[in-house]
Amino acid sequence: MIFDILTLLPEACEAYLKASILGRAQKAGLIQVRLTNIRDFAFDRHRTVDDAPYGGGDGMVMKVEPLVAALESLPDKPRPRIVLMAPQGQPLTQALAAELAGLERLVIVCGRYEGIDERVRKLAVDQEISLGDFVLSGGELPALAVVDAVSRLIPGVLGGEGSAAADSFSDGLLEHPHYTRPPEFRGLGVPEVLTSGNHAAIERWRRKESLRRTLLRRPELLQTARLSPSDQELLDAIRGEQDEATPGATLAKTGF
Ligand code: SAH
Repeated sequence: MIFDILTLLPEACEAYLKASILGRAQKAGLIQVRLTNIRDFAFDRHRTVDDAPYGGGDGMVMKVEPLVAALESLPDKPRPRIVLMAPQGQPLTQALAAELAGLERLVIVCGRYEGIDERVRKLAVDQEISLGDFVLSGGELPALAVVDAVSRLIPGVLGGEGSAAADSFSDGLLEHPHYTRPPEFRGLGVPEVLTSGNHAAIERWRRKESLRRTLLRRPELLQTARLSPSDQELLDAIRGEQDEATPGATLAKTGF
């Protein structure tokens, strides 16, 4: 898959793209990430990329011409999806990342300042994506988040580093807790089942703890998660255990 990131700060993206999983995925040819500096497409002597907003007010607006020129400089085949990072966009979720992972090409536009001239949206943008209900200073961190979340789902990218299929949200639930050596640290042990070698029991424990986490932290996810009859039994058992531990507390509040 080929990603193009259009940004005023390519240097802010470089280190993250080179490191670890994304760096290796590029070396292995599983993904390609190209950085385009929007400033290279400014047309005046001062290389101006922003201007004061029509109507007045604070802040600057990214100009339409350099951005459209930068977009038009990219190869047009295979036809990319062009997304704009914007706090007003569709929230980035695992489901959206999975959909994007099916594309051959993705072009990501990073805003800065107060944002971009609205006409870029109208002329060129297929989709707007938000990292969440907060405002950052630029679209670079959100763009890197998209590249990372999408790349992990491309076959071969994770290699031996675990399976994306078990990650939180991939089946609609939060993932179970993890432990590694040592077996005891400051009086805290490891759940016995994990060292039992009994794979069926381990799987059952993991599924139960995944359901418990989701019930306690994000109960709304259970409404849409794919739950089997044995999941329902585990949930009932968890509710019983919680009631014993904290009668009438957390679970009553969550409505489950
Ligand atoms: N004035 C704009 C915010 C501009 S922030 C507004 O109120 O909607 C500057 C740039 O940072 C944006 O153009 C966008 O590309 C990026 N950005 C900021 N917060 C973001 C978020 N939560 N998700 C995605 N992109 C974001």
